[in-house]
Order: sequence, then C-alpha cells, then structure tokens
Amino acid sequence: MINSIIAAKARSEFSRAMRFEGVGVPRVPPPGDDRPRLLYLHIPFCERLCPYCSFNRFVFEEELCRNYFRALRKELLRRLAPGHPLRKEAEERGEI
Ligand code: SF4
Repeated sequence: MINSIIAAKARSEFSRAMRFEGVGVPRVPPPGDDRPRLLYLHIPFCERLCPYCSFNRFVFEEELCRNYFRALRKELLRRLAPGHPLRKEAEERGEI
C-alpha cells in the first residue's frame, strides 16, 4: 500500500518536473551543418518495471526490442547528412 502511494506521488512529481512549458514543440535541427551535437538515445526495455520509475519503459520482449532497434537504426541513418557513406549505403540497400 505505502509503495503504491509513494510510486504514484513520485510519478506525479517527475511528470510535473518533465513538463516543458513555453518552448513549443522541440525540433531536431536539420542535418548538414558542422555544429557539434549531443544525442540521447532512450532504450526503454527493462527486465522488470520498478514501481517508482517514471521513465517510458517496457518489460523486455525480444521481438519488440528487435523492432525498436530496427526503427532506431533507420531513424539514425535518416538523420545523417545526405552523402554520408553510411546513409548512402543504406539508401542503396533500400533501407531508408
Ligand atoms: S528504467 Fe526504471 S523500470 Fe527500468 S530498471 Fe531502471 S528504474 Fe527500473
């Protein structure tokens, strides 16, 4: 009982803290310039879901995970600058 109350409160507080206001919809800058960037990749699979955790997460399932990584790879390749060797290879293979 106490665990579920604490988990609910923690989720509510995290969710409030993660609400970004006044910045509009975030946009990924277009590829092609040389500005350094940081990249956050979220891998949302866990062996089990901890009750206090507010991350977007799912219990690990192999097929779901494989599909996720396929989609992630595709998205990353799309973000590479046109002409980048990895992107060109993927385009030639019809992957993107
Ligand atoms: S991401 Fe959250 S649910 Fe997954 S192991 Fe870490 S704390 Fe637990």
